[in-house]
Amino acid sequence: MSGLDIQAIRKDFPILDQEIYGFPLAYLDNAATSQKPVQVIDAVADYYREDNANVHRGVHRLSQRATDAYEGARSKVRDFVSAQSDKEIVFVRGATEAINLVAHSFVRPMLHAGDEILISHMEHHANIVPWQMLCDQVGAKLVVIPMTEKGELDLTTFDDLLTSKTKIMAVGQVSNALGTINPVKMMTEKAHAKGIPVLIDGAQAVPHMPADVQDLDCDFYVFSGHKMFAPTGIGALYGKQAILEEMVPWQGGGDMILSVSFEKTLYNELPYKFEAGTPNISGAIGLGAAIDYMQSVGIAELAAYEHELLMYATAQVGGLEGLRIIGTSDQKASVLSFMIDGVHPHDVGTIFDQQGVAIRTGHHCAQPVMQFFGIPATARASFAFYNTMDEVDALVGAIQKVQELFA
Ligand code: PMP
Repeated sequence: MSGLDIQAIRKDFPILDQEIYGFPLAYLDNAATSQKPVQVIDAVADYYREDNANVHRGVHRLSQRATDAYEGARSKVRDFVSAQSDKEIVFVRGATEAINLVAHSFVRPMLHAGDEILISHMEHHANIVPWQMLCDQVGAKLVVIPMTEKGELDLTTFDDLLTSKTKIMAVGQVSNALGTINPVKMMTEKAHAKGIPVLIDGAQAVPHMPADVQDLDCDFYVFSGHKMFAPTGIGALYGKQAILEEMVPWQGGGDMILSVSFEKTLYNELPYKFEAGTPNISGAIGLGAAIDYMQSVGIAELAAYEHELLMYATAQVGGLEGLRIIGTSDQKASVLSFMIDGVHPHDVGTIFDQQGVAIRTGHHCAQPVMQFFGIPATARASFAFYNTMDEVDALVGAIQKVQELFA
């Protein structure tokens, strides 16, 4: 068993200590969004109580403190993803905005009719729709890496999908609908061997495993803070400095400029060139506090504990009759998607809620995955390091209750 003191950790997450319909809350919807520890809540509140001011522009003390805290958070993100420089970290609203930024600033200017953008069958809509919109605009083609019944990428034809027309490969590190961990490092190597740039969607990876952009050697890496114990509305885009330098800004406005006249605007240096307007200062500070918190728990330690949780849940739930697990790769993180025979997932979610078990039901913004399995939706339990084996037992009890009700 893991050396983490889960009960002590749970005390840091006040929201977990409540009852729903008289049952202890079992929050198993972490892939949608995670809960926040007091350390994050306090960091945000303290900022507003003591330091609130706009960043970068003020000479007064509060503005300097706000700027130091905001830029300090950037350094924490740089360290968290093992980037080389703070210039490579752009604060954004989340993974969605980061992908749209890359689509518009990097890919759009070089995309022509007949070009291809390579994604996979198990992407979140955030890593499908922005690319599809670009393709529609210029007459380019969206090419999709297929998947298997186990919910793994089918890489048998992968080499052939990387062509001279491919302008970018954009793939998820961990699938939010299935939990599959994809071999993104190997895929990046192969794409690079053909000169194809790579974006990795780390939204479901960063809460569960160490992120190392230099090891992955990806050109872009994106994630959202709210899935890793930080506030909503903040996330980061990592980009290799040499590439970011060459890119034109996506949005224009204050802070992204060096000088403006009606004749000409000179853009600011990295990373500010991509941060038009007043940023989410408190969100960035909260993200920094979340990184501190995860590092104090130990990312390798929390990953190992979550693996135990997932193995236990998979064995318990998988042992039940009349139920099908969707996504059965050996390489998985955090997610257990399933279907109970004869019961719509939305009914499952409602009955679970009446027992205090919070899960997500639906297509999980991955409708092509649902189409692949020929189902409208799944019930999805997703774990974080504050979850317990007792909560897995509550999940199993809730499934049995549904089966009794629908027997
Ligand atoms: N990619 C993946 C794999 C996700 O799970 C999500 C969120 N569910 C996103 C991208 C989009 O994240 P956000 O909505 O925070 O921008």
